[in-house]
Amino acid sequence: MGTLYVVATPIGNLEDLSPRAARVLGGVALIAAEDTRHSARLLRHLGLSVPMLSLHEHNEAARVAQLDARLAAGESIALVSDAGTPLISDPGFVLVRELRARGRRIVPLPGPCALVAALSAAGLPTDRFLFSGFLPAKGSGRRGRLEALARREETLVFYESPHRIRDTLADLDACLGGRRLVLARELTKAFETFLDGTAAELLERMATDPDQARGEFVIMVAGATPREDEEAAAVDADALLSAMLVEGVGV
Ligand code: SAM
Repeated sequence: MGTLYVVATPIGNLEDLSPRAARVLGGVALIAAEDTRHSARLLRHLGLSVPMLSLHEHNEAARVAQLDARLAAGESIALVSDAGTPLISDPGFVLVRELRARGRRIVPLPGPCALVAALSAAGLPTDRFLFSGFLPAKGSGRRGRLEALARREETLVFYESPHRIRDTLADLDACLGGRRLVLARELTKAFETFLDGTAAELLERMATDPDQARGEFVIMVAGATPREDEEAAAVDADALLSAMLVEGVGV
């Protein structure tokens, strides 16, 4: 039986590909890639020529049987996404779930992942963190998600694109204003930057230096302090008590 290798690839700096990843990519019968043209550049850089097949959110479920048959025939396959670790805000979950259910051998090849790289250099607590991927694109959905997370004490981690970074910072200011944020931009690339401050301060910084709003971002937000939590719980208890009194419930 063949093996499915889940291979992390660079998030910017091609030197971050591990020697083991390069060896495995060169040894498999097939590479299932989120975007074959994008991954072809990585293969060219490595001097490799390996057959590729696209695997993205729109065809992933349909690819399962085909890839399962090739593993059953003894071929090994590598799964890669455009950048970083597959399945982390990237395709691959359906494939891995289905192949695991069929008892196939699945081996992770650890490597670059934007959220781990960002946390490792941010200076925010990392003992507990909550990764919430991309926030919803629409403002109301985004604010709803932020409000649902407002009382979490873990460091909050989000992915964001340059198109929405300002809107997201504005919503972070409205929902979690005053908290410390660290914005990791363009990790491992020429313009890698870490900015530190409240959401309002970071927005001001982008207003004076629009380059700070370009590129790819990991947003990290300090978790709620236990005191904020207790205050919120006290407000909830007050609201519940008032509601019970209005309803005429005996207390
Ligand atoms: N699978 C990837 C990983 O392991 O990090 C994430 C893929 S997700 C589609 C792309 C998002 O990851 C970007 O919008 C950005 O939020 C974050 N990201 C990826 N590369 C980055 C980089 N070099 N610097 C900062 N953030 C990055």
